[in-house]
Amino acid sequence: MLDSTSGMPELNHLKQSSLTTQWLILGFALLILGGATGFNLYVDRGRTERREQGRLLTQARVIQENLEQNLTAVSRVLADLRKELPSHKANPGLSDRLKMLTDAMPGIRTLLLLDRDGTVLASSRSELLGGNFAYRDYFKTPRQNPDPEMLFVSAPFKTTLGIYGINVARTIPGGRGEFAGLIVATLDPEYFKPLMASVLYAPDMWTAVAHGDGIQFLMVPERDGQAGKNLAQPGSFFSRHRDSGKETNILTGAVYATGEERMMALRSIQPARLKQDKPLVVAVGRDLNTVYAAWRHDIRIQGGLFGLIVLGSTLGLYAYQRRQREFARREAEVAEALAASHRFMETLTDNIPGMVAYWTRELRCGFANKAYLEWFGRTPEQMRGIRIQDMMGDELFRKNEPFISAALRGERQRFERTLTKADGSTAYTWAHYIPDLDGNEVRGFFVLVSDITEVKRVQLALAESEWKLKTIIETEPECVKVLAADGTLLQMNRAGLDLIEAESDSQVIGHKVTEIVAPQYREAFIDLNERVNRGESGTLEFEIVGLKGGHRWLDTHAVPMRDVDGQITGLLGVTRDITARKKAEQALEQLAQTDFLTNLVNRRHFMTLAEQELSRTLRYGGALSVLMMDIDHFKKINDTYGHKTGDVVLRRFAELSRQSLRDIDVIGRVGGEEFAVVLPQTDGEHALEVADRLRKSTGDAEVVLDQGLPLHFTVSIGVATLGGTSSNIDTLLSQADKALYKAKRSGRNRVCAYEPRDGASAKWHEA
Ligand code: GH3
Ligand code: MG
Ligand code: MG
Repeated sequence: MLDSTSGMPELNHLKQSSLTTQWLILGFALLILGGATGFNLYVDRGRTERREQGRLLTQARVIQENLEQNLTAVSRVLADLRKELPSHKANPGLSDRLKMLTDAMPGIRTLLLLDRDGTVLASSRSELLGGNFAYRDYFKTPRQNPDPEMLFVSAPFKTTLGIYGINVARTIPGGRGEFAGLIVATLDPEYFKPLMASVLYAPDMWTAVAHGDGIQFLMVPERDGQAGKNLAQPGSFFSRHRDSGKETNILTGAVYATGEERMMALRSIQPARLKQDKPLVVAVGRDLNTVYAAWRHDIRIQGGLFGLIVLGSTLGLYAYQRRQREFARREAEVAEALAASHRFMETLTDNIPGMVAYWTRELRCGFANKAYLEWFGRTPEQMRGIRIQDMMGDELFRKNEPFISAALRGERQRFERTLTKADGSTAYTWAHYIPDLDGNEVRGFFVLVSDITEVKRVQLALAESEWKLKTIIETEPECVKVLAADGTLLQMNRAGLDLIEAESDSQVIGHKVTEIVAPQYREAFIDLNERVNRGESGTLEFEIVGLKGGHRWLDTHAVPMRDVDGQITGLLGVTRDITARKKAEQALEQLAQTDFLTNLVNRRHFMTLAEQELSRTLRYGGALSVLMMDIDHFKKINDTYGHKTGDVVLRRFAELSRQSLRDIDVIGRVGGEEFAVVLPQTDGEHALEVADRLRKSTGDAEVVLDQGLPLHFTVSIGVATLGGTSSNIDTLLSQADKALYKAKRSGRNRVCAYEPRDGASAKWHEA
């Protein structure tokens, strides 16, 4: 075998580790993407936060700077008024001046001048004149600590006019520096509202101003219950700002006053050049949710996108890997099936008793089994991809080239080839080239070669033995023939053909042997054939008429023909020509039955024939007569003329008998000069006529002697006819003999009939 299979577990292991790597890569990529997204969002959040913080701080600064300018202006007005006071003391026109100033300064709602007891000395609002505000904190605080340089900023309070206001005050020192009164400006919340509203750039914003002690002063947009609220609570924005000690803070968290989550810019309003007892704190805030709404939207979008990417890529990889695993599984299955089929083919091809190979279109070896490798004495490595010319060598390639070309044309090839093996021995092969067809295209061809050396040897031996047998049979002088079981002639040697006068075996092969034998032997022949078919052997003598009309006696000895399994397949016959023997036998028989002198049948044969005639007559009916004839005084002829003359007389009488009698009559010489005749279909009357005609012609005949003298002789004849008492030939002949004796006694040259009535005293009948 030329191929080897790859290790499958290793393949699976590689696959598994590659799957894990894919997950790791995906996880890493997702991690990076997630990190980048997170980082981006984080940066975004920072950017949003910083941008918002910047804006809020800017907006807070706008309010801070405005309020500072206002406070500065108010502080200057209060300082100026205080300078003017000695000249205006108790001046009724002071209130008018305060009113005028109030009108000129839109941020100031009311200006008051209080004496050291808290009584209103002058006011921009006439209705307050004479009122006492000594109970108010904004009065108590400066009086307790009367610093003329100090700008007192009161906590918000509800004015007598029912609105929340902040009073900004400066003390009026007396001559010795004691507290002599207070000049107060009430800040107008209505004035600050548009300013505060102008910094709001988003609907969720609000801005507020609170006093340094924590009391809420203003909130825009306005909300009920906000003014006057104490913000100095633990953890509140206000407290965190105040505790930080910084002028500016940007803070996030829950708003104490409203409970909202907010980003707040807080700025303390306490200009350096003003000596303020308490700062004001301005706060500008936004709803945190709203600040980060766009960012959160981005989070949702990007998070969602990321989630989709994670889900999609995970599912995608999962599905991909599943398919990969499925592919790998199928691949493994296919590989296993392939390996199994490979093993099967290898085992098969290595164990079949033949050579198997595959040659490509380019005539390079694609496959060769063990037997093939051994045959050509090559290793699998040497064989792999070898060119067919190089493997076969030039001579063999030249011989096989026509078959190779034909196979590459798509035609199946089968041929025998004598090969010299690698070990130098000669072998016979039976090769098949089978085209490997892909549609109409030939991709190569399979080679199947069987080593038929053994078969070939046997075949050659068989052919030789067959040739010998054929020679033996052909040269055999006897007729040898083979018949099929049904009697059809299959084979006949030359001697046989000569016997039946055939020129060639084509005249008789395929014919039934019964067509050749004489008709009377057909039955016997069929019978012999059947016996041989049953396993017996047999012999038959028969006559044939040759194709050219020659008549022959033959003798056949037949034996069953059996195949290797012992089954009878036909008949083997050896036939001899026995014509010569048959003729000799017939001659001998003739001789035994014939009287050599007269050529008539002898006594013994006459008796046989006479018996046959009698029994035939008895069977079929009809008449029958016999004659007994004796030449008169024959002794005297012998004695007178010699024995030879006697013989001539005997021959002459036989001749006369034959001439007088019919062919069917049986004439025999039954004694020296005694003759007997059977006359079938002849009654007594006719028999007497026949006998008398013969007696007369005998008496008329003459035998010429040597000396030229004629010799005459006579005959006496007794006649007996088949009747009631005579049923066998001996009786009939004895009766005829009795009649003959009568003829002799009554003078010779006579014919007498047997008369049954008186035996010895028979009545003589004279012709
Ligand atoms: P009869 O009229 O009473 O018959 O007188 P016969 O002389 O014929 O009587 P017999 O029977 O005594 O004689 C027969 C003789 O025939 C005797 C014998 O020698 C002779 N004979 C018998 N056979 C032959 C034969 O083959 N050739 C010759 N030449 N003579 C024969
Ligand atoms: Mg006689
Ligand atoms: Mg006699």
